[in-house]
Amino acid sequence: MYISANVVYRVNNTPLKNGVLGINEDGCIGAVLTQEEAQGIENIQHYDGVLVPGFINTHCHLELSHLRQKIAEKTGLTGFIKQILSFRQQPEEEIISAMQNADAEMYENGIVAVGDISNLLISKSVKLNSKIYYHTFVEVFGFNRPSEPIIEQALNLKKEFAPLKASIVPHAPYSVSSSLFNEIEKVTNEDDALSIHNQETIGENELFETGTGKFADFFAELGIAQNDAHNSSKNSLNYHLPLLSKEVNTLLVHNTFSSKADIDFAKKEHQKLYWCLCPNANLYIENTLPDVDVLKTERLKITLGTDSLASNHQLNILSEMQTLQEHKSISFEELLKWATLNGAEFLGIESQYGSFEKGKKPGVVLISNAENGIINKETTIKRLF
Ligand SMILES: [Zn+2]
Repeated sequence: MYISANVVYRVNNTPLKNGVLGINEDGCIGAVLTQEEAQGIENIQHYDGVLVPGFINTHCHLELSHLRQKIAEKTGLTGFIKQILSFRQQPEEEIISAMQNADAEMYENGIVAVGDISNLLISKSVKLNSKIYYHTFVEVFGFNRPSEPIIEQALNLKKEFAPLKASIVPHAPYSVSSSLFNEIEKVTNEDDALSIHNQETIGENELFETGTGKFADFFAELGIAQNDAHNSSKNSLNYHLPLLSKEVNTLLVHNTFSSKADIDFAKKEHQKLYWCLCPNANLYIENTLPDVDVLKTERLKITLGTDSLASNHQLNILSEMQTLQEHKSISFEELLKWATLNGAEFLGIESQYGSFEKGKKPGVVLISNAENGIINKETTIKRLF
């Protein structure tokens, strides 16, 4: 069948005014046509709005879906972590049903693929039965205990997630020892992708630079001794990036306190970096946003993520786009690339997802009531394929 809308955003190429998509029965794109090229084709279904490929959510924690509306806002990252630890344990049925709802919500919101952080196996059944593609990041942490057993456990977990795609990733610079980073590198394969929470709070940089600040206080509270990397006059990015494998696509998540100097350093250090923004979660936890202008000016590959329902009111990439549009004046077309093709490339699934090209099966999403690309309260989203 053929469908059309006011604008068809191909993402890999210029948008087509009144463009037409030929969709095969299996949802694959059979043709991408300009208005002129489509002349003579009968029965084109026209929609009022714009058509975009399905969204890629590169950072989520499905496991935390049951914490929706439970975590107080704007407490800072250490306050957030303390709350997560106190609420995390809940009956298994409750967690599973919350994850099922979250998965359905993402599908309705036009999300076709998710990079999902997992510490447990509990999300496997939801992912197996989902219409969404999941790449599971089996996340490890540990900074004052032996690394081998941690990795052993992670390898088992990764195996248990099969046939789902999974790779083993570090949680964050403040929670992973250098020996554990080394162990992670040993088990990283060519076709893996890595992800790490990066510079999410000012206290994270301070811990590494001066050994002071909110994270240093938090560690002291827990009775955890500081290590060599702390109080080293270098920040957290300088600590972890040299310890990561350089061979695989790697996602730096949040980057709320990444500076121009950090970006310069990162570009030299690692050629396969992607920078994930989770603006709604940043506002929820820290009430601040990354310096998006500098990330944009430096032409970094930016992706978008929702983070979890513990730090967001919804799992909706369009809402993340709206927040960046409102606060950072980024154009719809640019945001769309971050929300689709860049994320697909990061996950290594761009042969199927991320743009409207013949032969791909990227999902088709109708966005209505977004005049001139301005996303607002009236804007609606509908998954067509
Ligand atoms: Zn996260």
